[in-house]
Amino acid sequence: MKKRVVLYKRLPADLMSRLQAQVEVTWVDTAQADGLACLRSALPGAHGLLGASLRLDSGLLDLAPQLEVISSVSVGVDNYDIAELTRRGVMLTNTPDVLTETTADTGFALILASARRVVELATWVRAGQWQANLGPAHFGSDVHGKTLGIVGMGRIGEALARRGAAGFGMRVLYHGSRPKPDVEARYGAHYRSLDDLLAQADFVCLTVPLNASTEGLIGRRELALMKPEGILVNIARGRVVDELALIDALHAKRIRGAGLDVFAQEPLAADSPLLQLDNVVATPHIGSATHETRNAMARCAVENLLSALAGERPANLVNEGVLSEYLLPVS
Ligand code: NAP
Repeated sequence: MKKRVVLYKRLPADLMSRLQAQVEVTWVDTAQADGLACLRSALPGAHGLLGASLRLDSGLLDLAPQLEVISSVSVGVDNYDIAELTRRGVMLTNTPDVLTETTADTGFALILASARRVVELATWVRAGQWQANLGPAHFGSDVHGKTLGIVGMGRIGEALARRGAAGFGMRVLYHGSRPKPDVEARYGAHYRSLDDLLAQADFVCLTVPLNASTEGLIGRRELALMKPEGILVNIARGRVVDELALIDALHAKRIRGAGLDVFAQEPLAADSPLLQLDNVVATPHIGSATHETRNAMARCAVENLLSALAGERPANLVNEGVLSEYLLPVS
């Protein structure tokens, strides 16, 4: 008998056909008003879940006692209680690597847009306000030759470092859990404490995962350490930054600007004070959102799911511990 999978993210047609050939698929549109109710009724009997951007709490997991795997179409796994999944013997998989370059492109789009005031000035042109040659009031600041500070030197951090060093002649500083001599050799990067990086970088780019050690990592104190001309770029997760402290710093022009792809609450409320600020470029969590990369992520997620359901070790298993816990009963 085919295993049962609940799908809560749309898949390209070829991947949907591939999935349906091997498992019984129930599609749930969580964007609909009755989405959660549909999910709850689909969970009993489910062996696998595939989707993203949904917090699967214990109440929902209790409804799926046969669950073997959750295949997340994301690299970030902050929506999941990993220890709880391991305790229940549920494998969690993600989609690293395939989104690295696209997300680094988004980081650089935000660096350039913030420094050169692209959104602010394009809006100004559309509003018919370009009526004379520009003066210093509309000038931006250079990106090339400046200092790029990367907080979290992982896959995306390294892709940013490559762009900064090779493409823009930037000096690269980084902070992470440990120095990485191979990265230093490749990009001429220098390890710094977080405080030193904040004080020395012109662009502070956040690429850490959201977890207990990174929630609120950039707060009032840290923002105060940044240069007045510094620009903060967040392509990690909104809650890595204390958003109220950031709004205050931007409002008071204690830092020059921010390029933000992620927010404490998503979608960002239309009345967010961030959207009142000219020195903010806000994008709707588009880090990996290209046709090519979203298709690659979906493919990766389907492969992870099918190998887990086939009793194999999926390529992108997040909770390795599940392999030893797998047969332990849930107390
Ligand atoms: P990764 O390869 O695991 O890199 C994360 C890096 O952060 C690792 O090098 C890690 O150190 C470091 N780190 C962890 N905790 C830290 C701390 N407290 N202080 C400093 N550094 C710390 O992950 P990735 O693939 O680059 O993705 C990073 C994150 O980007 C994801 O978790 C996700 O939340 C976010 N993301 C956002 C988008 C978007 O749409 N905006 C798209 C993709 C990813 P170690 O090497 O020692 O583990």
